[in-house]
Formats: sequence, C-alpha cells, structure tokens
Amino acid sequence: MKETKIIKAEPSNLNENEIMPAAEIIASGGLCVFPTETVYGLGANASDPLAVAKIFEAKGRPQDNPLIVHIWKYEQLFDLVTEVPEKAGVLAEHFWGGPLTMIFKRSEKVPAVVSAGLDTVAVRLPSHPVANALIKLSGVPIAAPSANLSGKPSPTSFKHAAEDMTGRADAIIDGGNSFFGIESTVIDMTEDVPTILRPGAITPADIKELIGEVYLGKGNSGAPKSPGMKYKHYAPRAPLYIVESENPVEIINSRTKEKTGVINFGYDNSDFKAEYVFNMGKTASEYAANIFYALREFDDSDTEEIYAIPPKDDGVGIAVRNRIYKSAGGKVI
Ligand code: AMP
Ligand code: MG
Repeated sequence: MKETKIIKAEPSNLNENEIMPAAEIIASGGLCVFPTETVYGLGANASDPLAVAKIFEAKGRPQDNPLIVHIWKYEQLFDLVTEVPEKAGVLAEHFWGGPLTMIFKRSEKVPAVVSAGLDTVAVRLPSHPVANALIKLSGVPIAAPSANLSGKPSPTSFKHAAEDMTGRADAIIDGGNSFFGIESTVIDMTEDVPTILRPGAITPADIKELIGEVYLGKGNSGAPKSPGMKYKHYAPRAPLYIVESENPVEIINSRTKEKTGVINFGYDNSDFKAEYVFNMGKTASEYAANIFYALREFDDSDTEEIYAIPPKDDGVGIAVRNRIYKSAGGKVI
C-alpha cells in the first residue's frame, strides 16, 4: 500500500499552487486522482510507459482496454495524433473543453501501452479547472481512465474516489463532485463517417447538427471498435430492475419488500413504500449527475433489490439509459 496524499482544491476559486504537489507527482511518474467534469480520473504521464502501466495495475484494468489522453490546450493534440480530420476540428471548436473524447490515428510519440496496442488514440480536453490546471502544471498530457477499481461504477465524488484509490494512488485531489456524473461521449473520427462508441453528455443530435451523418454504436465494419465495450459492465450487488411503465409507483410499491431501493425520477419520494429512495432530480442531466453516486450508496447498504425509473430516450437521457440498462443486465419490468 502506498501513502496517499490528499490535496484539497476549490474549482470555483482555484489556487494553482495548491495542486503543484500533484503536478510534480505526475511529472515524476506517479499516479494522481483528480476531478473532471465527467467523473474522477486516475492520471499518469501519458508519455511515460512505466507510469501508464501503473494505472492498469492500480485499477485492476484489463491490459487491452485503452486509456483516454487528457490535454489542456488544443495545440497539444498535434503531438499525439498523425492527422486531425476537418470534422474533428469542428467538434473540438464547439465541445472542447468538455465531455467529448475523440479517437484519432496515434502518433509514434504516444506509447503503445496507452492505447493497449491499437494504432489509434483517444483524446479529450476537459473543462474542469482543476483537471486543466493539473495537466498544464505537470507539463505533459495525462492518460486517465475513471478512478474506480475495475468493475465498480465511476466515482463522481471525492468520497467514492478515495474509497477505491487510497493506498493505490500517490495523491488524490478533492475537488468536490463531478458536474456531469457520467463518462464522456466517445466518438471515432478515423473514418469519413464518425461513429459514436459511447453515449455521453454530448448527444448524437448535438454532433449531427455540426458535422452531419454519424453512426451509433458500431462502425460500418460492424465490429465493436471500443475494446471497453466488451467487458462486463458494473452491476450493483442487489439486482436492479428497470421499470418501463406508465405507472411505475404502483408497480414498485406492489413489489416492495423490507429492503427495497428505488431510483426515483419524476415522483415524490414519499409516494414510495420502499426503505431507500434516491431522487435523481428533475432533468436527465441531474439524473446523470446522481446515478453513480446512488448505485454506490446502494452497494454500501443492505438493499436487497433496486427498481429504477428511467428517463426518456432523448438528449442526455440516451446516455443515462445506456448506463442503467447495462447495470441492470437487461432486467426490465
Ligand atoms: P474510461 O476512461 O474508464 O471511461 O474508459 C475509456 C473508454 O474509451 C473505454 O471504453 C475505452 O475502450 C475507450 N477507448 C479509449 N481509447 C480508445 C481507442 N483508441 N479506440 C477505441 N476506444 C477507446
Ligand atoms: Mg471506466
């Protein structure tokens, strides 16, 4: 077990000096957990293959699941990739910094371990002030997956990041809660018609409006291009059921037992008989911000089954439904 330094940073009033020790850890080949607008990341110097290898070890991440490289200014992109297609330039202009990851052809300067041997590389320029200051001060691009142990939900709070990474990372920056709460949209820009490999806060409609046609899920070759998609997704300890009904309150109450949990969307918590009711807020974006936190809290409680009311299948709701359907493993009532 490592000694893990805790570093406090206030995103809305950031004093860069406070995160200097974290930047020094990254620059010298260590691991640092940091907040981003999507979820907490576990970062290492992307140009140092030994440092990057430590990420896989700390998370227990399969060696063939590639990482996203984080930059803080657009110019850094040209060191990482061999070519920036015009459509990627348009998307970067509109959505960087922000929750959009783009896949490019990988430059030889990016160690193969970052991309798990693929000839492509995933790159994102975040909007979170703490993340961007850390990348800037460390002086290198930062490879970072979500800061959870493999198989657990992505951490969206300092509390949950620290639960998984204390003793494994050299430092954890406490920057409060992530703003979006689900992982970035991933889009493969290496073909003429780009493919959205993972839905996120930037929606297919947002993207189509700017660059026209995009494929969803699988490219025209039909093969899954994002290696992460083949792994079993996180599922909570208690079975999770998605309730696709006009009248979810009645259905859930009729099935409620002593230790039932509810992921409530659109109703009063007091409408439910269940013991543990988490309210996901009023919008799909609020749902995104709350969902992983709620799933982790259910795991830490004695909940025996969970019922979730899903958001509508549009906008950010598409990404939320993607995550909860995977967590439910197809159990719908
Ligand atoms: P995480 O950082 O935990 O959110 O995981 C990053 C996601 O991006 C995983 O689903 C990866 O499979 C995907 N990804 C990263 N790099 C690439 C790449 N070069 N090609 C395709 N997918 C990638
Ligand atoms: Mg992850």
